[in-house]
Amino acid sequence: CGIVGYIGYRQAFPIVINGLKRLEYRGYDSAGICIVNGDPFLAKQKGKVSDLEAFIGDRPLPGTIGIGHTRWATHGEPNDINAHPHESMNGKFILIHNGIIENYSLLRSKLEKRGYIFKSETDTEVLVNLIEYIYLKGNVTPEIAVRLALTKVVGAYGIVVINRDEPDTLIAARKGSPLVIGVGEGEYFIASDATPIVEFTKSVIFLNDNDVAVLQRNQMVLKTIYNQALEPNIQQ
Ligand code: GLU
Repeated sequence: CGIVGYIGYRQAFPIVINGLKRLEYRGYDSAGICIVNGDPFLAKQKGKVSDLEAFIGDRPLPGTIGIGHTRWATHGEPNDINAHPHESMNGKFILIHNGIIENYSLLRSKLEKRGYIFKSETDTEVLVNLIEYIYLKGNVTPEIAVRLALTKVVGAYGIVVINRDEPDTLIAARKGSPLVIGVGEGEYFIASDATPIVEFTKSVIFLNDNDVAVLQRNQMVLKTIYNQALEPNIQQ
């Protein structure tokens, strides 16, 4: 339902939490975050963003990369386990997702035949495990694994992906579910609509269907899931 992401030089946690609060008007049943400080820290909860904050409490969460999600359940009841972010079985990828993976049950049974065990009932966990399966089996880069996985997906998605082997990179992609990238100096913002971004930057890129953005602090590479290079169209 709601997506927020940040990569840059500021502390990510307040940006992600405040961004999720700005998206609360959309409605949701659960909320979760992942903050990267070398190692990714993940927290997710059924309930409000304020419940998630209370759950995290005074624990300091330093880190200049982070993602957050508010979930409106479509597959699997609202509970802590089904809340996003979802982590792949071997811990290589962490993902937040808006939308619906329509062919999730076919993909899930294929992955189960290859030894994958699922923690949640969501369509989203199928996608994060598919990315990891392609990554480990194909010995490809995280970006290639994300793109190849998305070519096998039927449905709608706005996603942001963290991977443990390249923790200073966020990968965002969309099809049928909006994603906006805010462009700063040495920083990027990601959100499912512009409301969490406008206080930081007026320069935005609206992703198109089948676009993938690979974000590092000082560079963005934009292409299609079929690996065609794209020129970013920055709007004010
Ligand atoms: N289909 C996903 C789920 O049920 C994402 C729902 C959403 O867009 O929040 O977990």
